[in-house]
Amino acid sequence: MSAAAGEGAAGGGSEGGGPQVDPAGWYAGEADGFERLWTPHRMAYIGGVDKPADEEEGPQCPFCRAREGEDADGLVVARGEECFAVLNLYPYNPGHLMVCPYRHVAAYVDLTESETVEVARMTRTALRVLAEVSAPHGFNLGVNQGAVAGAGIAGHLHQHVVPRWGGDANFLPVVGRTKAVPELLGDTRAKLAAAWPAPDRSRP
Ligand SMILES: [Zn+2]
Repeated sequence: MSAAAGEGAAGGGSEGGGPQVDPAGWYAGEADGFERLWTPHRMAYIGGVDKPADEEEGPQCPFCRAREGEDADGLVVARGEECFAVLNLYPYNPGHLMVCPYRHVAAYVDLTESETVEVARMTRTALRVLAEVSAPHGFNLGVNQGAVAGAGIAGHLHQHVVPRWGGDANFLPVVGRTKAVPELLGDTRAKLAAAWPAPDRSRP
């Protein structure tokens, strides 16, 4: 270790233009045998960014915001008559989307008959689209109703559709409460929106 540190300290020259790595010996601390996965973007979530101050309808609700804005900006995948499908900003897996009514309503029993039917219909379409686009091995479907039940945005009902692959739940979520997501959200949205069939449409 000290030999490597010595070499780096002497020159630090890079060959081939690759990234330079500072020798560990330049810094304080002792190696302990653990690997480190640096995920600074997680601080935004841990810090509570985008968390609404209350459960009221309006611009503080991410679903109301997505309903009003540009589809690419809000990660909207498809729009039906009374409901829409939108990607989760903090996905468990690539393609983790949510189907929700346009109307800001918290309880499943408060959906109208036609909203209930369309949430179900768009959920089925989401399963077909995800199967076609990314061939998952299975899905988790469900609603967390109320903060106590795990709803992050409790004021605006949303049904999760989470594609699953064998081995996708490795040590990271179990031990580290961290998910590695290997695709950018904008790319996922574009693929799913393109594959989503009529009559639902997203704005280009
Ligand atoms: Zn809302």
